[in-house]
Order: sequence, then structure tokens, then C-alpha cells
Amino acid sequence: MAAIVVVGSLNEDLTVSVSRWPEAGETVFGERLERSAGGKGANQAAAAARLGGEVTMVGRVGDDPAGRRLRDGLSGLGVDVANVVVVPGTPTGMAIVGLDASGGNRIVVLSGANACLESAALDGLDWRGVRVLLLQLEIPLATVTAAARAAHAAGARVVLDPAPAVSLPDELLGLVDILTPNALEAAKLAGREVVDVGTARLVASQLEARGPRAVVITLGASGAVLADGNYVTHLPAPKVAAVDTTGAGDAFNGALAVALAEGQPLASAVIFANRVAALSTTRPGAQASLPDRAAVGSLP
Ligand code: ADP
Repeated sequence: MAAIVVVGSLNEDLTVSVSRWPEAGETVFGERLERSAGGKGANQAAAAARLGGEVTMVGRVGDDPAGRRLRDGLSGLGVDVANVVVVPGTPTGMAIVGLDASGGNRIVVLSGANACLESAALDGLDWRGVRVLLLQLEIPLATVTAAARAAHAAGARVVLDPAPAVSLPDELLGLVDILTPNALEAAKLAGREVVDVGTARLVASQLEARGPRAVVITLGASGAVLADGNYVTHLPAPKVAAVDTTGAGDAFNGALAVALAEGQPLASAVIFANRVAALSTTRPGAQASLPDRAAVGSLP
């Protein structure tokens, strides 16, 4: 497999814009419906490929047009999709995304074929040459753990974006090299609020003590806090005019994987990821907003 492997979800995103959210039992009219490629796994694979990373995606899609679009889309970006397998009789994963007038989003995910990505799907994969495994939580947790185990045994770095947040088994946390929650996920995992850089520093140290070699908490416009062994540091994001933060975390993780696969130290990788993710917020969409290397280089 390639230097970067993503074992994760592929979803079709159906995004509807609304002027305000409906109350319980209420109906509101949406303004427009857009169909786009998504899923945290696929977004992170696409982000890494856009930046020049060599990427293998392991996942499942349904036997439907959405599944074909997602697989072809990743393949068009140069991602190896030989292990993105069609599951007959199951729909492709789908995310219903509501965007409100202030750019905030609310998301409902239907797992579909992603739920069929069982641990057995990893049998026979050749982990030689893999430098970074990127994981998220939109596939069965047992598969996430099995992938982390296999990559760890092969000497690859294991990066886990614990999204959407669920409580994580100690075995998995012990296999993780870099845990990358956003503020909300970090708060859920730690049982303690993350409201600013100061609280993020405390929570990052607390989470690091549970097993991962390092913890990176992303803080939106404030960048990220990194707890890495002996030190905790705040790495700010560049100031940009953000228009849509959908997929910013995915851009961050994809970029982190590329920098790590290139052998950059973790702090440099986080600085690079901040630049890529900040740029991704200046354009609408998840995969459509992902910058390439030239765009990242041109950022002051
Ligand atoms: P998620 O998208 O998973 O909720 P965050 O909101 O923390 O995660 O964003 C992830 C990363 O995206 C941040 O660490 C930062 O690098 C970048 N980012 C997000 N929002 C902004 C913004 N408004 N300005 C600059 N960078 C941003």
C-alpha cells in the first residue's frame, strides 16, 4: 500500500441551506440542495492526495451511482482505490448536512456501506512501506482498532481523528501515536470543557496520559494545541477570511499525514496542517475547498 493509508468512511453529502433551524414538529423551507463527495475518511484521503501525498483508501461503498462517483472521484485525485469495495444490496453512506445563514452546520449521517467495513476487510493487506495510518470513527470501532494494531505492528504512525466522538477503549488509545480531536471531541473524551487555549492545554495533557504518544486539539481560528511527550504548545492558525469551515478538520488531518510521511517533526507538521486547514475554510465545500501545495506555499 501507499505511504499514507486511510481506513475510513466515504459518504455522499447532501447539503441544504436554511435561513434558520426548524423547532421540533416545525417545517422550514430550504434554499438549495447540493450533492458533494464527503465522509471523513474520503475527505482526509482527498486532502492528502491534493497535497501530493501517496494515498491508499480502504473503505466500502454501495452498488449505486453515489458509490461510483465517490470511488471515481478519489481515483481521479490519484488515490489508490483498489480497496474501496462495492457492497451489493447496501446504499452508499450519506450525510445530510444543514447549513444555516451564519455558516454553522448540523449533520445527520446514515452509515450505509461504511458499516460493512469489518475487521476482516483488513486481512491480506500489505502494510510494508506504510508510514502513516489515518483513522476516524465513521466505521465500526472494532475495525478502527484492528487497523491501528496492524499499522502499529508494521511500524507506521497511527493518527486517530476521534470524530464523531464516542468513548474510546484503552487498547485503541494505547495504539495511537497522534490523537487529533477538535475542541468539542476533546471535551467529550476528557469530560471537561475546552473553551480556550488554556483549557485545551490542560485537556491535551489529560488525554495524552491515557495512552496516545501525542495529542493535537484543533481550535478553529485559534489553530491547535499540541501535547507531545514533555511539552504542551500552542500553534496558531494563519488569519484568513473564512467562508465555510466544513471539512477544516479533515483538511488538517490529511495535511498532517502528508507532512509526517515526509518525515517532518510533529510540530512542523501541525504548522503545515494549520496552513492547509485555514486555506480550506476560505472556499465553500469539503473536498472542493481543499488546497494544493502551490496554494499553501503562496499563503503569507
Ligand atoms: P473541525 O473542522 O473538525 O471542527 P476545527 O474547527 O478545530 O475542526 O478546525 C480545524 C483546523 O482548521 C484548525 O485547527 C485550523 O487550523 C483551521 N481552521 C478552522 N477554522 C478556521 C478559521 N476560521 N481561521 C483559520 N483557520 C481555521
